[in-house]
Amino acid sequence: MAKKTNEPKLDFKTDWAYEPAPEDTSHISLKKKYDLFIDGKFVKPNSKKYFATYNPATDEKLADIAEADAKDVDKAVKAARKAFTKWSKISAKERGKYIYRIARLMQERAREFAVIETMDGGKPIRESRDIDVPLAANHFFYYAGWADKLEYAFPNRNPKPIGVAGQIIPWNFPLLMAAWKIAPALATGNTVVLKPAETTSLTALKLAELIRDSGLPDGVVNIVTGAGATGAAIVNHPDINKIAFTGSTDVGKLIQKAIAGTDKKLTLELGGKAANIIFEDAPLDQAIEGIVNGIFFNQGHVCCAGSRLFVQESVADIVIRKLKDRMETLIVGNPLDKNTDIGAINSKEQLLKINKYLKIGKEEGAELYQSSCTIPTKGNFCRPTLFLNASQSHRVVQEEIFGPVLTVQTFRTIEEVIEKANNIPYGLSAGVWTDKGSKIFNLTSKLRAGVVWANTYNKFDPTSPFGGYKESGFGREGGLHGLMPYLRF
Ligand code: ADP
Repeated sequence: MAKKTNEPKLDFKTDWAYEPAPEDTSHISLKKKYDLFIDGKFVKPNSKKYFATYNPATDEKLADIAEADAKDVDKAVKAARKAFTKWSKISAKERGKYIYRIARLMQERAREFAVIETMDGGKPIRESRDIDVPLAANHFFYYAGWADKLEYAFPNRNPKPIGVAGQIIPWNFPLLMAAWKIAPALATGNTVVLKPAETTSLTALKLAELIRDSGLPDGVVNIVTGAGATGAAIVNHPDINKIAFTGSTDVGKLIQKAIAGTDKKLTLELGGKAANIIFEDAPLDQAIEGIVNGIFFNQGHVCCAGSRLFVQESVADIVIRKLKDRMETLIVGNPLDKNTDIGAINSKEQLLKINKYLKIGKEEGAELYQSSCTIPTKGNFCRPTLFLNASQSHRVVQEEIFGPVLTVQTFRTIEEVIEKANNIPYGLSAGVWTDKGSKIFNLTSKLRAGVVWANTYNKFDPTSPFGGYKESGFGREGGLHGLMPYLRF
């Protein structure tokens, strides 16, 4: 006879044990229509206009998003200005507490943020769950810690907030970019008007709900949605003190022109075309993983993507063979499936741009190689792609594609690869793979790139500054450096 025990029976239906599969989105609460977040409330747009946001993996409409016009932007800037008088005066310790609260709430709601990020933007759930959302929360934690230590960060310089910051972000890391922008601005006592990109507004609006629930004083963070015209209205508003922009080099140049002659401060984080350099003495299997992560992470929608591969000639054959083999194992498809490696291209427009470059590369004479995987018939997808035998003058080597497309060049000497790596309009990032520390130091000092990764790639941390040279922009975000653009001394 079975012995009776007092052990509780496990009930797998209880909340704590219930972990829905990422594909199950039934519990995700999306509204049909999203208004603008101004002065602590959701308000209808003056224009009365809304635009649709779609799931790029299925072409399904997810919600309607308000389109802010110049009057709405003015309302948001006025709310931010009013809030600034109080927010900049409360004790720094209190300010820190509010930011910690945002960080903690984001951790509590992490799963919902990750699923929505993936549905709206197309990135694999594994990335939004394990990278984007935790890193976004970490940015708030990190900058919360600085709020009451500014005098130690900048001794004898009496740092003061600037005022109202206008922040414009892109669609490739929607929540993470919002965190990169908002957290340092709040920690330094500024108030914010932020605009997400038009194809990925949902997690910024979810962040607005979270900020409202956190009890942050009204008007400290305002989130206005819309496209380029809304962004331009923020840039041109006379009562904005600082613009922080992440996006394309073309729009960055427009913004720089628009604010020339004003006393607005500016930081620009723009495009990139990073060299990922593999020396013959590199740990090759690790390097293959680094190449794959460098270019196929987030479908290559990454400004610091390692989109130009340089392989030392003596190991080129073996590296290319291993890379092709590894590409065959990559799963392209449903972004909500946790086994997916490469999700959906963010928009039809972006897919068209990538396809245009595939055509250009072939016409220029580079050899196209794509993995043989099947891709879904609905939605926006692109196979992982190589352009072999690419040369320095090819447009696919010089221009940013922002997709899962890697050009491959070979080199013989260090001098040659440094010359080629730097011979480009951009200077955001680079990667170096070698067994020799001396080579790493030699290259990091000679590569004109804001970030150089050694024997790794695409690693991000709130404590380390990020930003570019040349047409990749100026100013740094992250770390102690990330506080400076929000302060006057
Ligand atoms: P991408 O080409 O990668 O879509 P963009 O630079 O066009 O990048 O977009 C980045 C952000 O800049 C988006 O939020 C977009 O709405 C905004 N934007 C586009 N045009 C302008 C503009 N003229 N002024 C200000 N912001 C703009």
